[in-house]
Order: sequence, then C-alpha cells, then structure tokens
Amino acid sequence: MAKYVLVADSTLVAHYRHFPLLTFLPCAPSELVPNKVYYFLKGPQDKPMPNGEALTAPYSIRKLEAALIKAGVRREDIAVPHEDHLADFITNDTEIIAVSTMDPLGLGPLTMSYNVLFGVNHTPWVKVEWDRLMAKLNALRAGKKAKLIVGGPGVWEFTIEPEALKRYNIDYAVQGECDDVARQIFEQLSTGNIDTNLFSNGYTTYDMHFHKSYNEHSNFLSRKIGLAKGAPTLDELPTIVRPAMMGLAETMRGCGIGCDFCEVTLRPLRYYPPERIGEEVKVNLQSGITNAWLQTDEIFAYKHLNAKFEPNQEALVELFNHIMSIPGVKNANPTHGRISIPAAYPELISKLSAIARASPSNWIGVQVGVETGSNKLAQKHMPNKTLPLKVGVDGTWPEIVWKGTSNFNKYYWRPAFTVQVGQMVETPEDNWDTVALINWMSNSTIEGTTRPFEFTVTPMQNVPLGLIKNREFSAITLDEAQMSVYYASYRHLAKMAMRDARRDSKGNALVKNATAGIIYLGGWSMMKVVERIAKKHKIDIEKVKRWGLDREKNKQTMVMASKV
Ligand code: SF4
Repeated sequence: MAKYVLVADSTLVAHYRHFPLLTFLPCAPSELVPNKVYYFLKGPQDKPMPNGEALTAPYSIRKLEAALIKAGVRREDIAVPHEDHLADFITNDTEIIAVSTMDPLGLGPLTMSYNVLFGVNHTPWVKVEWDRLMAKLNALRAGKKAKLIVGGPGVWEFTIEPEALKRYNIDYAVQGECDDVARQIFEQLSTGNIDTNLFSNGYTTYDMHFHKSYNEHSNFLSRKIGLAKGAPTLDELPTIVRPAMMGLAETMRGCGIGCDFCEVTLRPLRYYPPERIGEEVKVNLQSGITNAWLQTDEIFAYKHLNAKFEPNQEALVELFNHIMSIPGVKNANPTHGRISIPAAYPELISKLSAIARASPSNWIGVQVGVETGSNKLAQKHMPNKTLPLKVGVDGTWPEIVWKGTSNFNKYYWRPAFTVQVGQMVETPEDNWDTVALINWMSNSTIEGTTRPFEFTVTPMQNVPLGLIKNREFSAITLDEAQMSVYYASYRHLAKMAMRDARRDSKGNALVKNATAGIIYLGGWSMMKVVERIAKKHKIDIEKVKRWGLDREKNKQTMVMASKV
C-alpha cells in the first residue's frame, strides 16, 4: 500500500458548477449560506478512478506527486485518493499523510472581509470543511504510524496561529517551495531524522512592512535560513504526471512587479518555456479537460522585457500559439494579469484573443488586482503595476483601469477585479475614489459600442497581522467610505449575477436553471444584506449609488494610443 497519501483540502476538490466567482463560496459564513445551498453550488467532485484514486486533483497536489516521482519515489508508493476513499489508502503502511490547503483557519483576505462585514461570530465554510477533514484524517490514522503534515499556500495561517497545529493534531507544517526537496522532507519527517544542514524547525514570518523574521517552532519545517539556495531552480521544477483540476498548468513562478503588500514578488522569477507548459496541458487533456488554465501571478510579466515592465509580446504570442496548437485544446486563459497592459496594448489583447478563439460564447476569464480607485494609493503601493503607463502622465489610475477594462471586454476578456479596504495610509477620500471607479465602470459601455462592461469586483479586507493574531477582527469597524466600497462592489456583483446568471450557468437544463436561479437570487440577496448592514452604519445608500457618476473627470483624457 502507499507510503505517502496526498490529500487536498475539501474546498479545493469541487468545480462550483463552473460558474465564475463561485470558487469564492467557501469563504462565506456557514450560518448565512445554508448547508443545502452550499453543497448544491459546490457541486459534485469528479468521480473516482476504479482504484479509488482521484481522477483530477488540485495543482499543488499534482506538483508534489510529480516532485516525489522525479526524486525517485516509486509511483505505487504514492496515492492521491478521492475523498470518499480515504479509508482505503490510510493503512498501517502509510508513513505520511500530506494535506495541501489554501485557507484552513479562515484568515484569507476574502474570508476576512466577510468576518469584518458580518461579525466574528460566524464560521466560514472553509473552516467548517477543514475541521471535518482533520477529524476524518485523525480518526483514520488513529493507532497507526502515519504522520500528518500540511503544506501549500495556506500554511502562513499556522504561522499566525501555531497553536492550531496541536489543536488539529498536525505533526508538521511545511513552509515554502519544496519541489526539489520533497523526498527528503517526506523521508526525514517519517523517521524523525531531520538533516539540520538542510532544514530547520521553525518558520519565516513578515510584519506589515514585509520585514522578515524567523521563529523557532518544533512543529514547523522549513529550509534552513541562510542557505544559498532558497527555492528550486526552473530545471528542478517537475512536470505534473496526472491531471490537475480545471486544467491548470504552471506558466511561471514569482512576479517581480513589486507591489508592497504582496509576498509573491519576493520569490525568484522562473519562466517555463512553452513546450514545458504544453506538456502539463497534455497531461490535463487525459482527463477530458479541454481548457488550458495558465497558472501565473501576472501573465503579462511573462518574460517581460525591461524595467518598465513592457510585455514581451512575442513571447506571449508564442506561448498562446503553442498551447492552442495542442490537439484537443479548445480554449486557454491565464489565472491573473494586470490591467495596464490591455489599456496600453489593445493590439496584443486582440492577437491573444484571436489565438485563444475568444468570442461572445467563449469569454477569457482573468483575475485582476485593481486594489483601489485612488491615484495616491496606486502610486504608493504598486507603482510598477501601472507600468508601462504612468499615473499622472498617461492618465489617472481610474482612467487606466477603465481603458483596460474596455479593451479587455472588446476582445472578450472578462476581468474579475479585487479591491482592497484597509490599506496602509488609506483615507476616506481614497475609498470614495474606489466607489467612484466602480460606479463609473458599472455604468459604462465598451468604447465605440453599446455593449455594457463585463466585470466583477470583490472587496478584500486588509487586516493588520496583530489583529488577526489575537482574533480581534471585531476591533475593525468600517467607516462610511469603507462600507461604501463594500456596498458599491456587491451592488455591481448583483447586477452582473442577475444579468449573466442564466448565460453562464452550466449543466443539464435542470441544473442550469437551478444554478441560475440560486445565483440570481443569491446576488440580489447578498446586495440586500450588505445594504441592510450599510443602513445600520447610517450610510446614505443613494449617495453611494450616485457617487462619481457626474464627475467631469470621468471623460477619457488618456494619451495611451501613443503606446501601441
Ligand atoms: S502584480 Fe500581483 S503578484 Fe505581482 S507583486 Fe503585484 S500583487 Fe503581487
């Protein structure tokens, strides 16, 4: 039987009816989204393979599996069970149960935004599902030698709350990229013989200014501080060998843009050549997934050309051409990208759309961190994200965002924006600028057409680490302008949900109608709930609805055509 059992957080193994933004559902409070509605919208997991393993698994699990195999672990020593078949794989032979997680304790920015909005007495679905999975795994390994370890992007939450490891009976949390040392980690954790030249028991943490510090802790394992090599090289990154969920294929690691609130930018930059990305796409095709979803934190930084972060158009076109030329691939979209590129390079977007066969029935979804409608905050926190355009020279930040959205939509790209509330040095005026931007775009049509803008916007709460640590979110009270950002965002989301619910719902007629109905009603109800909370805060709803719509500055004054 398998020595190593790899398990994904339960919130990461469903398809959420393939409806845009529904993957955010587990961040919502369980008390406000009833069981039946949650599980219907979460949808079924892919059916297991005949041996009880999962047909598809989250990318992080597939990468770990590939890293172990690349390091010489026999395939039959590794299992990635379907959640319904965990009991068949956790046996007396199991040495390690490794769980990959994203938001185990409900401390992620979106979950936090619901906490601040609805109050701390709620439990998000992410935590409900995590508690259940931990209870199940601990019951299955009781009396056996298997160690329980956790890794993945959600491990930072245990650095905030290390005592949670004991509470869940977790033996180790593994921090950092470990593709090149996965085998050593598994072997050493299972025997308890840790090579202290390579690893140390402790974790790295950052303060709100991204100053790094290191804390010793016997339940954490990370690369030894001070080693010349802090992350795997491109050659050491393995290619997945079995299909990843949603057709995810890694394009690059790191970003380099340097926003001051973002940890991704601290990682070394590594770009996969198109052929290697294509290999992962081909693996995903084996499960019947025909969409290539390109994992990146900033697709337009792929092999970028210079310090002005001009996009490498040739490399991007080559990448998309290569992926779309793979037999069986029907469409492709990147996970993340920045908005200044469609603003400045509409021709590039047009070319990529033609290659990816974007159309009114095949929108390219992409997540975009707009973060703010304020020039001041954009210049302070993310000056490179606006490049090669400059705020104040090529237009205001809202104008850049507007132009980028218009060009995205023109060529059938639908951005899912996030905006932040609670940023450092933020004032109410900054948040009113964000409200104005949302309202302006919500009422806009694509330049030269009558087609309304297509975008979503989700507010994220920036909570100081000190408050997260002490679970004192209740100390955060939203002021009028912050609350207005929430209301303007959910008002626009409701508008989009009601407009697009039927068109974007998938499945047979019954499932499609049920999904569309719940999305339609859910979008409207969410807006009404936020409206009720806003009214309790004595917010003038009519003022928020009108804010920024009559501004002279909403006229296009940009000079971006010269960049094309
Ligand atoms: S562009 Fe995105 S990934 Fe890159 S540093 Fe800024 S926020 Fe982080």
